Amino acid sequence: MKAARFYGPNTPLRVEEVPIPEVGPKDVLVKVRASGICGSDLHALHGAFPEMPVPVTMGHECAGIVEEVGEEVTTLSEGDRVCMDYVVSCGYCEYCSRGNNNLCDSLLTVGFELDGSFAEYVCLPEKQFLKLPKNIPFDEGAILGCAVVTPYHALRVAEVRAGDHVAIYGAGGVGIHAVQLARIFGASKLIVVEVSEYKLKTASELGADETVNALEEDPVKRIKEETSGKGCDVVLVFTGSRKAVEQALRSVKKGGRVVLVGYCREPVSLDAMEFMSNEIQLRSSIEHNRWELARVIELRALGKIDLSKSITHRVSLDQVNRGLEILEKKIGDPLRVVVTP
Ligand SMILES: [Zn+2]
Ligand SMILES: [Zn+2]
Repeated sequence: MKAARFYGPNTPLRVEEVPIPEVGPKDVLVKVRASGICGSDLHALHGAFPEMPVPVTMGHECAGIVEEVGEEVTTLSEGDRVCMDYVVSCGYCEYCSRGNNNLCDSLLTVGFELDGSFAEYVCLPEKQFLKLPKNIPFDEGAILGCAVVTPYHALRVAEVRAGDHVAIYGAGGVGIHAVQLARIFGASKLIVVEVSEYKLKTASELGADETVNALEEDPVKRIKEETSGKGCDVVLVFTGSRKAVEQALRSVKKGGRVVLVGYCREPVSLDAMEFMSNEIQLRSSIEHNRWELARVIELRALGKIDLSKSITHRVSLDQVNRGLEILEKKIGDPLRVVVTP
């Protein structure tokens, strides 16, 4: 089969012929129908994850059709439509047994440490797949696995409550989905901060009340103006920009919650006294849990979230490097680029 494999940082993926994986007794072999390209794939290609083995097939958000199941598999069978859960946890360490599989001591991620879905087939244990209802197209099913479930988890970490004022810094392929989800969680006023006009336009179409271009005006000042001088109850940061993180910390009201989701690699300065005096809570959100993926699948199946604006580009597996370039250089205003083998 064809697979796009990582051979080290700052090197294009190599699309090459590899054997179809052997199906173990607990495994499910899935024929990939769609696989999304994520900002974290770009981070990986820039060498952000030194633990990645070489070579490894990338691709971590995917939907497809079950081709073959191992003899001990009980919940899936040939022909089932499925969505992949890329977070592989042990299920019995302290964190897993508390329900925080995303913090598993021996966590592995598909597409970074294990062979992923930029390939014709992906083979993983049964527990890594969830059934995908027929009314969800494969490309939308694919992006549920990271682009949609990541903000869902972040909003749970944020504990958004009915009537909260929520600000979202960064409305790219992941952050954009926080707009509709925040509303489902109960946000009243929703303010989106971005530096790309097209992302602000999409955020507005998806229901953001106010959009702020941080290149044109001070987002902290604007958020204060929009919230009677108080700031938001919850501020979510989906960008890795240090400046955005620092602005987010000043956009929250007393007793409010700031949740970091984007990969910020620079030290961030914090006025500890002001932070403490105002009882501001700084939280962070990483990955997701399987049940949360089941929730977002259901939200889409019931038509509660609209993903029709999310996928802006489609490329073939042979063009995967072009797809990565489209996302990196923002060619043609991308949100999600999906690879279809
Ligand atoms: Zn991702
Ligand atoms: Zn564990």
